[in-house]
Amino acid sequence: MSQSDRPDRAEVEAAVRTIIRWTGDDPDRDGLIETPARVVRAYEEYFRGYEEDPEAILSKTFEETEGYDEMIVLRGVRFESHCEHHIAPIIGRAWIAYIPNGRVVGISKLARIVEVYAKRLQIQEKMTAQIANAIDNVLSPQGVGVVLKAEHQCMTARGILKPGTDLVTSRMLGVFRDSPVTRQEFLSIIE
Ligand SMILES: [Zn+2]
Repeated sequence: MSQSDRPDRAEVEAAVRTIIRWTGDDPDRDGLIETPARVVRAYEEYFRGYEEDPEAILSKTFEETEGYDEMIVLRGVRFESHCEHHIAPIIGRAWIAYIPNGRVVGISKLARIVEVYAKRLQIQEKMTAQIANAIDNVLSPQGVGVVLKAEHQCMTARGILKPGTDLVTSRMLGVFRDSPVTRQEFLSIIE
């Protein structure tokens, strides 16, 4: 969407007001009068990931690694995203591993790219692939493995109502795909 097609804040607040009226409630009563503005501020936070470029975040790399070529694993990065089918919360954790090929990246950057992709409308399968692909594109490592486990409130808090169910997705590239030993080493680290 081009910038000029993008609705402004007042339009989005009006849309929230419409939803409140549609529920049967009165958007002008005391408890609801500020709600459209609050919802828009919350949505700005939920969807701020569209403003950032994950590959740019990863682009500062370090080459003084003394030839380090073992697996690097960041475990259990918590994230909150929203499913693109219901705009319902997806709450989970990410495990990210790679085996470098001469270059490493600051570990906080790995956590930040999870955050950037989470703060968009998502499906978990796509988010898993996006994280792995961004690391693969920027670092050209020997391999990348990404596993996400998350609870989808569109199925735990509504619809089929199955609390306690989580979805596990993974994307393995390079040696994580080709070498059963490497894949197993990574998977054994995830509880
Ligand atoms: Zn959903």
